[in-house]
Amino acid sequence: MSSRAPLVVANWKMNKTAREAAAFAEEFLALRPSLPDSVGVAIAPAFPALERLGRLLTHTQILLAAQDVHTETKGANTGEVSAPMLKDLGVAMALVGHSERRRDRKEDEAAFTRKIERLVENAISPLYCVGETLEERDGGKTDDVLARQMTALDPFGSLPAGLVIAYEPVWAIGTGRAASPAMAVEAHRQIRSLLAKRYGEGVAATVRILYGGSVTPANAATLFGEEEIDGGLVGGASLVPADFAALVKAAG
Ligand code: PEP
Repeated sequence: MSSRAPLVVANWKMNKTAREAAAFAEEFLALRPSLPDSVGVAIAPAFPALERLGRLLTHTQILLAAQDVHTETKGANTGEVSAPMLKDLGVAMALVGHSERRRDRKEDEAAFTRKIERLVENAISPLYCVGETLEERDGGKTDDVLARQMTALDPFGSLPAGLVIAYEPVWAIGTGRAASPAMAVEAHRQIRSLLAKRYGEGVAATVRILYGGSVTPANAATLFGEEEIDGGLVGGASLVPADFAALVKAAG
């Protein structure tokens, strides 16, 4: 049994208005007493819903999360949102390096390092996402890709405070084709050994590594049952309160 507390994070992507987020919260909070306390829960709505959802989550153990953050603290960056702005809204965790942003915004490891720095400065936990494409997996490059993506952590002399990693194979995201538990475990072990090389085994053993990619109530228990899988980062199945609750239960 791992000493790391499991964590399940909802990534709503560009779904749900503030009003829809509030309706979700009402339904999910009604289910919460039937769910295991030992499982941490975080919800990452789109930026416009952060304030309303945050108000509803006050005094619950559910963390408010953001889907991204800018590399700078303030300035001439139209349309962007900074770490102090997120902090002001009560955000406790933020995604960095989601594959949709790697793909659409061409963001790279140097940018991810800066984002993680901004988050740590503002006491927000970074949830750093890594994972290979199908082409990279088929080409036998998964290990190299994960090693390259993990170089975003190289500039940190010690483990960034609150760091959580999500292993999300790109070919599994939103495709209905989740990685097998064995595949996920292999990748998680590699990620943990990269962390151990940088920060030592004792420190690496404390870092939660979540799996993401087509997690559903049907496959969650098998995936989360693996000691190396400390919970999930979930897109599609996090949009419906009962489904998301089933995932939290499966992680307990
Ligand atoms: C995600 O986008 O982080 C994700 C895991 O999506 P889905 O659960 O829909 O595959």
